[in-house]
Order: sequence, then C-alpha cells, then structure tokens
Amino acid sequence: MRVVVDQDLCMGCGVCESIAPEIFILGDELHAKVILDPIPEKYRFAVEEAIAECPEVAITIIEE
Ligand code: SF4
Repeated sequence: MRVVVDQDLCMGCGVCESIAPEIFILGDELHAKVILDPIPEKYRFAVEEAIAECPEVAITIIEE
C-alpha cells in the first residue's frame, strides 16, 4: 500500500503525525509528508485512523 497527502488540502494540523509518526511528518512547509513508501501492512490500522481523523480529508490510500 502507498499513502498520499494532498498538499493542496492539507492545512498542517498535525493530527496524522500524532496518530502515526512512523508514517507522517510535518515538513517545514507545514504540510504533512509521507515518510514510508510503500507502507508496511502492519500500519494499515494507523493509516485508516489518520484518514478518519484528518479534518481536511487529505489522506488517500493507493492499493498496489
Ligand atoms: S491530519 Fe490531514 S490536514 Fe492535518 S496535517 Fe495530516 S494530512 Fe494535513
């Protein structure tokens, strides 16, 4: 699985990083970046939680 953050939608709130710091990091530009590619399956629950909690609906899973 791969995960992308829509840089136009992300407002840099940091919720995704607080839920899954192994996967998301807030960059200098105050938009979340994905730091694992591909994402190991063991993180699927954390990714889904971040998707559910993202206020801008900016996170998307791309299945491979
Ligand atoms: S939770 Fe959503 S809006 Fe907030 S930093 Fe992460 S991707 Fe951006």
